[in-house]
Amino acid sequence: MSMFIGHKLIQEDSTLVLYLEPQLTEFALDFLRKNESEKNKKRTSLENGIYEYISKNLPDLKIGAAKVMLGSMLVASFSFGQAMPSYAQADMNLHQSQMNTSYSVKSGDTLYSISQKFDTTVSHLKKLNHLYSDMIYVGQSLKVVSDQLYNVKYGDTLYTISKKFGTSISHLKQLNNLSGNMIYAGQQLKVIDPHQKIYVVKYGDTLYKIAFMYDTQILPLKTINFLVGDMIYAGQTLYIPDHYMVSDPKSFLVLVNKKYSLSSNYVPPNMVVPNIPFTFNEYHQKKLLRKEAASALERLFNKADQEDIKLFGLSGYRSYERQDAIFTSNVQKKGLKAANQFSAKPGESEHQTGLAIDVTSPSVNYGLSQAFGDTKEGKWLKENAPNFGFIIRYQKGKESITGYQYEPWHIRYVGIEASKEIAQRNIALEEYISNFFSFQAL
Ligand SMILES: [Zn+2]
Repeated sequence: MSMFIGHKLIQEDSTLVLYLEPQLTEFALDFLRKNESEKNKKRTSLENGIYEYISKNLPDLKIGAAKVMLGSMLVASFSFGQAMPSYAQADMNLHQSQMNTSYSVKSGDTLYSISQKFDTTVSHLKKLNHLYSDMIYVGQSLKVVSDQLYNVKYGDTLYTISKKFGTSISHLKQLNNLSGNMIYAGQQLKVIDPHQKIYVVKYGDTLYKIAFMYDTQILPLKTINFLVGDMIYAGQTLYIPDHYMVSDPKSFLVLVNKKYSLSSNYVPPNMVVPNIPFTFNEYHQKKLLRKEAASALERLFNKADQEDIKLFGLSGYRSYERQDAIFTSNVQKKGLKAANQFSAKPGESEHQTGLAIDVTSPSVNYGLSQAFGDTKEGKWLKENAPNFGFIIRYQKGKESITGYQYEPWHIRYVGIEASKEIAQRNIALEEYISNFFSFQAL
């Protein structure tokens, strides 16, 4: 009886895939589990089985490598030494596992339909692309494969490979579903995406400590690593998230930007229409602000009125859904990359906090332009807003910190203590927050 019930030939790299006789399940499992000397014995009988199969069924074929499968499980890989020319070529060892590593979202696509197309799962796609919701946009470029493949060479061990790719043995085993430490020349191992930040857990680490170290939070850390509990172990490899959900959306000091976003279901509490002149008369959600911000704005506008400064409200609160519609429409008009530079993705707009409002004046035709900063009204606003708890959120010279161009019209309520300090020290909210938290940690 042959060990194999059939085969498949992969022409591109002359790999023979052999399917083990299901009755050999125990043999295969032993092969995966037993100690080194047992494995070597099994390996010899497996190799002999392969040679026997090839000489009987495929005598004239030149074969570079063989993979032994039990159903869809890879049991072992063998390379036939010098017969595989790709080994001779340096730098051929690392290659993309698929040609298409990014996919441009088309109309009608959902994460589910894309996951089906690329033989993956919605959660893997979300993890790969750091998505915290199921929302995608037409034109959005999604990563569809993160893992790269490494062809194991003679002399390689999991240890040498882990050093080469800056990862750990346990992570390699985790990635490749290896139960033991044995690898074979010719075997293809998944290695990590070099762009993904990872951390190898050390003795004494806790999720809290790691989150603190990387300026992130426990929840996204758990989400991205599919952790159910809080337990981690030394040697475990964790992905470090580079985009976070804010944990305190109701705080007047909440930081919302391209790195920290609000969840799609966050609606600020206690929103009212401030009693100030707007550039339009009808009711619209964009007239809303949180009560505290609205009363502070009324005081600010009263003061302006007393000093004959003509200010108008243009756009305050913006729901996640409205931001989504605006962003999607910008993407359709200008493409994703351009849209990203002048408008915020849903969840990343400060307008969703109910603490920000765009302000304008007749001197700039009731519009939003950087020229507003040089008008009498723009200068007055910059000088007086901090006395009422507001800051000019996107200042000139702070673009690399805030991620936004200079916007002299966009004011943000942070409370009077913070606004005064931010203005006096001429810093961005991001800088204030990081000082604020390091101070608190002392
Ligand atoms: Zn704005």
